[in-house]
Amino acid sequence: MSEVLNIEELFGSKVFTRATMRERLPKSVYKEVVKIMDQGGELSLETADVVAKAMKDWAIENGATHYTHWFQPLTGITAEKHDSFVSHPDENGKMLMEFSGKELIKGEPDASSFPSGGLRATFEARGYTAWDITSPAFLKEDATGVILCIPTAFCSYKGEALDKKTPLLRSMEAISEQALRIVRLFGNTEATKVVASVGPEQEYFLVDRDKYLKREDLIFAGRTLFGAPAPKGQELEDHYFGTIRERIGAYMKDLNIELWKLGVTAKTQHNEVAPAQHELAPIYETANIAVDHNQLVMETMKKVAGRHGLTCLLHEKPFAGVNGSGKHNNWSLGTDNGVNLLDPGDTPNENIQFLLVLACIIKAVDVHADLLRQSASDVGNDHRLGANEAPPAIISIFLGEQLEDVVKQLVETGEAAHVLQGGKLATGVSTLPDFEKDATDRNRTSPFAFTGNKFEFRMVGSADSIGSPNTTLNAIVAEAFCEAADILEKADDFDVAVHDLIKEYLTEHQRIIFNGNGYSDEWVAEAERRGLPNIRSMIEAVETLTTDKAVKLFEKFGIFTKAELESREEVLYEIYAKTINIEALTMVDMASKEIIPAVIKYSKSLADSVLAVKEAGADAEVQTELLKEVSAKLTEMKTALAKLEEVEAKAAAMENAKDQAFYYKDVVKAAMDALRKPADELEMIVDKKVWPFPTYADLMFEV
Ligand code: ADP
Ligand code: MG
Repeated sequence: MSEVLNIEELFGSKVFTRATMRERLPKSVYKEVVKIMDQGGELSLETADVVAKAMKDWAIENGATHYTHWFQPLTGITAEKHDSFVSHPDENGKMLMEFSGKELIKGEPDASSFPSGGLRATFEARGYTAWDITSPAFLKEDATGVILCIPTAFCSYKGEALDKKTPLLRSMEAISEQALRIVRLFGNTEATKVVASVGPEQEYFLVDRDKYLKREDLIFAGRTLFGAPAPKGQELEDHYFGTIRERIGAYMKDLNIELWKLGVTAKTQHNEVAPAQHELAPIYETANIAVDHNQLVMETMKKVAGRHGLTCLLHEKPFAGVNGSGKHNNWSLGTDNGVNLLDPGDTPNENIQFLLVLACIIKAVDVHADLLRQSASDVGNDHRLGANEAPPAIISIFLGEQLEDVVKQLVETGEAAHVLQGGKLATGVSTLPDFEKDATDRNRTSPFAFTGNKFEFRMVGSADSIGSPNTTLNAIVAEAFCEAADILEKADDFDVAVHDLIKEYLTEHQRIIFNGNGYSDEWVAEAERRGLPNIRSMIEAVETLTTDKAVKLFEKFGIFTKAELESREEVLYEIYAKTINIEALTMVDMASKEIIPAVIKYSKSLADSVLAVKEAGADAEVQTELLKEVSAKLTEMKTALAKLEEVEAKAAAMENAKDQAFYYKDVVKAAMDALRKPADELEMIVDKKVWPFPTYADLMFEV
């Protein structure tokens, strides 16, 4: 019999939860902390001292020796610098472990090496971290020992955001404020805030660690840069939801336990479409915590893999020719008195509120499709979005048949007026109670799909932080709510005004609704006719951040200043250029030091064989043909290698970040493809025994 897991006891055991705080803090302090967690405000230094002491005692009892301000710089991953609780010994040489309130709430890591896009001049290189009280502190355990991690925001001396958390928190306040105006219009006087909730489904690959270590491309780039297709791919669809193999199962079990301890509600696990691909989904929670937890999920996935002799690949496209990985970002809005604004509901009152919310979201997504696209782009995701893979780079909304029909009726017949006169539910609206059930028919090709009581944003990359997509979603919807509330709060006849507004928004923005196959070529043409943006790459999306429209939006709600947006542009170009540069150099290295020498060795053995066979008086035609073919491809490789070296050097020397990024995209990537082609062809004909590293078949089918 296997051991019994006490998940209830396990869950959150490494988190400084509210329950732990209630146990360990004086009642008045606990109340003050909870109030700030729920309603905002600042901790006094005295209170912070009390909390810090309780936190330190708890951490030390659980084995901690250090604490860290855990933050999320613009690199997209997390950062930490450990400080031990060790203090200056007293005159008797006795040392007391210390941790003050000041150390809890503020930090000044010398973080000058993080990307800031020019926000920090070198003379003011410091970044400041500030405790995000809304996200609980937790303990991280690894070879270093146990570390108390305090989730923090990371800002410059002048308060400019240098991270992904600060803008997200700002966007959550913005959407709360604007959404409250909407629910107030419908008579909700109880709610005090509206919270964005997020449930991110995380896809990942697992490969054998020893094989991984034999491939420089996986080590340096996180994806294969060479590799011929395996004889079998995902065509039989036998991996998706298939039985989980023992080794993977042991990994998943271990992963779940680690995540539960960290308070992450790991819920769903299954095999994904591609061989060696899997998925984990937690239960949704407040956007801010969901973002933090998704970082912990990614980190834990990698850490636990090591224990099982595996390596977890989070790259969006580890293997050419099979499905890549993404994150489905499930997003909804709920009041603190329990109303999900995206639930169609079953009373007329709520339905109209729902229709207004829906109309606002449709408007927001149409007006800011470019920004939403940008928020889901990273270097790896360029291999998915717009590259013949799910989902397309064009933003559109899937509503499901029934809701689309409701929208159509409202647009075409203006049912709304009729309803108001009759005081009854509109024809279209009356279909809503059935809707919830029927809406579950899914369109997996849609990048932004309504799925019952939430929207599922499916463009996000598997390796990326979900900070930016949720910041953008909150921001654009806050704006639409604000504009609607501005009109409706002044309306003489609210019922008429709200119906007119819903009709107006739906009519004006219905072009963004698309229920068909998002992967088809017809859709690309149709989207163009509709005037929807089709932004094909990460760096083409960068400029959307600083259009007048974007600056106006983000500044209005205090989410980004223009300077912060410009700094992000700069950082994105830099990250892109650096990443492609690493890939190019890795290819050069593998081609010149591994593939070409192996092929030369192989052609020598072919040549030897030709001579030997001829000498023996037999026909060496096959060997000769093969030798010619191998030699020709070797020549092609050598030429392509020289070209790649040439353009990489040129790219690396460029000064203007934007020009450089585009040069990498247009010229360097093409040279990389040209080098990969003959190499992959050679892999198909060269003796497997001399091929210098594990193949796709080895990596994907021997886990
Ligand atoms: P699937 O899309 O795989 O069928 P679900 O849609 O049921 O699965 O759930 C996917 C994710 O959506 C989970 O993380 C789940 O917790 C989250 N989710 C469910 N309801 C909501 C909601 N109202 N708001 C945000 N996320 C939600
Ligand atoms: Mg889903």
